[in-house]
Amino acid sequence: MQVIRHAPDGCPALVLNADFRPLSYFPLSLWSWQDSLKAVFLDRVDVVAEYETTVRSPNFEMKLPSVIALRQYVNHARTPAFTRFNVFLRDAFSCQYCGDTNRDMLTFDHVIPRSRGGKTTWSNIVAACSPCNLRKGGRMPVQAKMHPYHAPRQPSMYELNEKGRAFPPNYLHESWQDYLYWDVELEP
Ligand SMILES: [Zn+2]
Repeated sequence: MQVIRHAPDGCPALVLNADFRPLSYFPLSLWSWQDSLKAVFLDRVDVVAEYETTVRSPNFEMKLPSVIALRQYVNHARTPAFTRFNVFLRDAFSCQYCGDTNRDMLTFDHVIPRSRGGKTTWSNIVAACSPCNLRKGGRMPVQAKMHPYHAPRQPSMYELNEKGRAFPPNYLHESWQDYLYWDVELEP
């Protein structure tokens, strides 16, 4: 895990739910400093950690929050959006036919081809590298002797969040560490 230990442009705040878990892992729940300050002044959040960066006006000075926690618990949506990114995330950014994890080669495959009535849904779309996609072509899995490692289905929000933990974004402020990847941090 790569950690850049300085504030990024915009000093975003990591947003935690009222239970101090990130509101979401992927995309990581981040608010701009403007939105964070607004929420602080509206008493909607508690500041948990701060940047060294301060904002000033004539009668006011404050360090920008780097971690904030909602005062009211927000229930997560029950079903994740059917997006290209979420399909990749469900399939751990790996080809479901050969296991290749080269992201540049990653495409989507209709398990049952569109020409055979296959739909563009959670249960018929898998991540596939372009060579596998090409090799399978318009054939049924049985004809091509190519079956996805995991039968595709709609993941739960929880499953997607868990997957998201394995694919952290490139930038992580040090003050976010306590709220992320607890299990990873504990390992030597
Ligand atoms: Zn492949």
